[in-house]
Amino acid sequence: MSHPRTIVNVNGIDYRWPLRPVVVVCIDGGDPAYLRRFLADGTTPNIARFVREGYAAVVDGSMPSFTCPNNMSIITGTPTSKHGISGNFYLDTRTWEPVVMTGPELLRGDTIITKFAEAGAKVVSITAKDKLRKQLAKGLDVSQGHVSLSAEFADRATLADNGIDNALQWLGMSQPGMYSMELSLFVLEAGIKLLQEHRPELLYLSLTDWVQHKWAPEEEGARTFYRKLDDCIGRLAALDATVALTADHGMSDKSNEAGEPKAIWLQDVLDARFGKGQTTVICPITDAFVAHHGALGGFVRVWLRGTEVTARQVIDHIAGIDGIEMALDKDTACRLFDMPPDREGDVAVVARQDTCIGGSAANHDLSGLKGHRLRTHGGVSEAKVPLILNRPLNDAYRAKVASQTLKSWQVFDFAINGTL
Ligand SMILES: [Zn+2]
Repeated sequence: MSHPRTIVNVNGIDYRWPLRPVVVVCIDGGDPAYLRRFLADGTTPNIARFVREGYAAVVDGSMPSFTCPNNMSIITGTPTSKHGISGNFYLDTRTWEPVVMTGPELLRGDTIITKFAEAGAKVVSITAKDKLRKQLAKGLDVSQGHVSLSAEFADRATLADNGIDNALQWLGMSQPGMYSMELSLFVLEAGIKLLQEHRPELLYLSLTDWVQHKWAPEEEGARTFYRKLDDCIGRLAALDATVALTADHGMSDKSNEAGEPKAIWLQDVLDARFGKGQTTVICPITDAFVAHHGALGGFVRVWLRGTEVTARQVIDHIAGIDGIEMALDKDTACRLFDMPPDREGDVAVVARQDTCIGGSAANHDLSGLKGHRLRTHGGVSEAKVPLILNRPLNDAYRAKVASQTLKSWQVFDFAINGTL
């Protein structure tokens, strides 16, 4: 491993040259409730050792508590107000079309891995779903020995696009299914093998939350996954790496006693009061894979299309609905949650922990839930995530955690600058 001993500045934060490889694992949907349970009952001995010998806390993630905003916060080390990725979708008010937010051109600022790569480090970014891959590796030149891979498209990885080809053969795994725990395990196994063979300075491994959408902490499927996850985490640490664990968001049960989604159909509510075409509700959790949550989350945005309706009227009409925790105008929401105003709706709506919010009932396909209770995320109640390091904090960062509220997007900072 080369040691240029340079400081790398990314989006205003100085990072020292890593003393040993740094691996950041984003346990997608890794609500603190899972680790609370599995640390207590001995399912995750390696992570338990990190908690004993390193550092562990529950910290704030970015709002809304969705996958894209939080992954981009982690990889840039900045809040959503800086990097601009405010959801999986936002509404372009010039065309009134929803825009998918996965394009690298929508990401503002630099990623930590790309800036380190430009400074001479070898870097690796592996994701479960391909939708995150390009944005995470914004500006990264994979022809220089770096890797940018997704488990989803592992079977079609090429040296030119991903920095690796024949990935399945190389790893000795078959192509994992989109809805499987193997999709996450592939990411971890590929990270372990790349660490063994190439010892890159930085690795970012981002999993999928299929397991957490499907199973509560007390269900056996969740335990099976965390046992396998813990084994992989232990093998990463055994390769003399600094290993940091965090999550993009938590996960809450949002079903009623009958096991059906406890949903507020906000577009229907607003249409009934103000008339069709006056408002547009966008559910920023939506992506191409909605079978496990039916595009229902804990946070939606309302854009005003007509001239007759004001944000105040919308807020006054919905704030008292049972299950709505907050209905905020754009300025208040952006100030409170550190979000970018140009990609915020006129009203931001946050659901209570036990409730989810959708658009029109007719537009949500819930057949994919197939008798499963709805577990999903997006609100403040799912914005608490773990931050765990396998090595103890140094004095400077011990002082830091004593004096400030930690954010999950400081995970690279803590892993690179904050450990002994
Ligand atoms: Zn997620």
